[in-house]
Amino acid sequence: MVRIFSRSLRFRFLAALGGVLLLALISLGALSQWVIFPALHKEERAVVMQELEQIERSLQISQKELLAQVRDWAIWDDTYEFIQGYYPGYTDTNFSQQMFEEMRYQLMVFFNAEGQVHFIAGINPATDLYTTCHTMERECGWAEGLIRTMQASIEEDPQQGKSNLYAGSPPLMVASNPILRTDESGPPQGWLFKVRPMDGAWRDIIEDYTGLPTTLSMVDAPIDKEVAVTITGNTIQAQRYLPTYPHNEQIELGTHLNRTSYLASLETFRYVLLWTACLMLLVIALVLFLLERIILKPLRTLTQFTQQVSVDSADSANLIKRTDEIGVLARTFQQQFKHQKQLNAELIELSTHDALTGLPNRRLFDQRLQEVINIALVTGQPLSVMMLDIDHFKLFNDHYGHPEGDTCLQRVAQTMHDVATNQGFFIARTGGEEFSAMLSATSATQAIEKSEALSHAIDQLKYPHQLSPVAPHVTVSIGICQFDSTALMTPTALMTAADQALYAAKAAGRHCSVVYTPSLANTPFSSHNTPP
Ligand code: GH3
Ligand code: MG
Ligand code: MG
Repeated sequence: MVRIFSRSLRFRFLAALGGVLLLALISLGALSQWVIFPALHKEERAVVMQELEQIERSLQISQKELLAQVRDWAIWDDTYEFIQGYYPGYTDTNFSQQMFEEMRYQLMVFFNAEGQVHFIAGINPATDLYTTCHTMERECGWAEGLIRTMQASIEEDPQQGKSNLYAGSPPLMVASNPILRTDESGPPQGWLFKVRPMDGAWRDIIEDYTGLPTTLSMVDAPIDKEVAVTITGNTIQAQRYLPTYPHNEQIELGTHLNRTSYLASLETFRYVLLWTACLMLLVIALVLFLLERIILKPLRTLTQFTQQVSVDSADSANLIKRTDEIGVLARTFQQQFKHQKQLNAELIELSTHDALTGLPNRRLFDQRLQEVINIALVTGQPLSVMMLDIDHFKLFNDHYGHPEGDTCLQRVAQTMHDVATNQGFFIARTGGEEFSAMLSATSATQAIEKSEALSHAIDQLKYPHQLSPVAPHVTVSIGICQFDSTALMTPTALMTAADQALYAAKAAGRHCSVVYTPSLANTPFSSHNTPP
């Protein structure tokens, strides 16, 4: 049963479609895991990196702006004179706490041509007090560290205007330029440094400008990379590590994205995936259902139909009516069956009947004889056989010709067939002009009567036979034998006995019937004659 099922088309389709579904689901899963999700994640990373770059650009603009401001002051005749000590009113005219607050400066330092402090102005971040000094005095002590870094920067490259980030809390943006005349002629008479804190206010400006959340802090331990992207909970962060002057400490400039919308779209995507899988399942179920209805069921009916198994007549009728290929096949099969049935019937007829007379032939006679012997053995009823032979038929042929002999044979056969049908026994043409009959439930005595009926019917034909020494018409001789069930006779023995009786009838002058008796086996002339 399992083997039949496993061989069935339905199972194969089920297995194939199941395989396809599994493969599709695995591909979908693999595609999501290794292509789509990473792509989405990469996209998210790219977005946050883009935002970080925007903040960096804003930082660069901010640095350039400070550099422009320092150049504006440093390349100016007034400052040029001030640094040489020719312009005492310069500080009063140009410096005030208000100006520092408005420009968001923390410190401005003027160095003379020797690199010594000439003037300092700034707001102490610890006290928020505005102070000005002409040397490194105590009020400006808070800026001492910064001033030393500035002096190192001058020594490193005195010619250039520069913009650097200095470590601090908050980190600082520092720009410097050599002091020149307004027409940029030299020689440089000193240097001007401006310092702007990158504090909360600065961050607010950057955030306003970029529209992005911005973080800025010093890094505690050095980090060996320029950028980092980290995910914490529902937030993705991108950080850029910027070096400070002169010790390469690191400032972490960063931004972050809320992943809610990304996670929501991920969820939507998963939802879509799930529905795609469900839809695929549905489609495959539908395909199977349609396959079953349109192809498999009709094919099964067709298979039963072709195997000639009894099929539901309504199903068969529907099958024949179909206009598709299966219908064509069914109709072709139907026609083939009819044709084959007809051929089979013809073949059976040909193989069991005699072509000339249409009577059953020896093959069918022998076959039936075995059957009736078996029945007789079971029922114990008598059974008799006859052998009939046309008398002097050679002479008939010689005189009338073979074709006329054939016609005579046909007439005699037809007559005997009519009598046999009438009397309810079986007769066959078992030789050239020889016939054999079997008579169930008939004793030899009863068989004599039937043989006489046969002989009489042939006599009544009055088929002319001028050369016959027996009669002026065609006659037959008949040998009869009753089956001896006690002696368990074989069919051959039974027919041999009938033949011996026929021989005796011939010997007795022909046109008569003789019943076989065991003595006939040795004395063929002992017979029961019936007068012609
Ligand atoms: P007997 O009375 O002893 O039987 O003599 P018979 O001449 O009938 O017997 P024999 O066996 O000598 O001859 C039988 C003849 O039957 C010979 C043969 O030509 C003829 N015969 C056999 N079959 C056919 C047939 O199909 N058609 C025709 N026309 N003749 C046949
Ligand atoms: Mg013969
Ligand atoms: Mg004969």
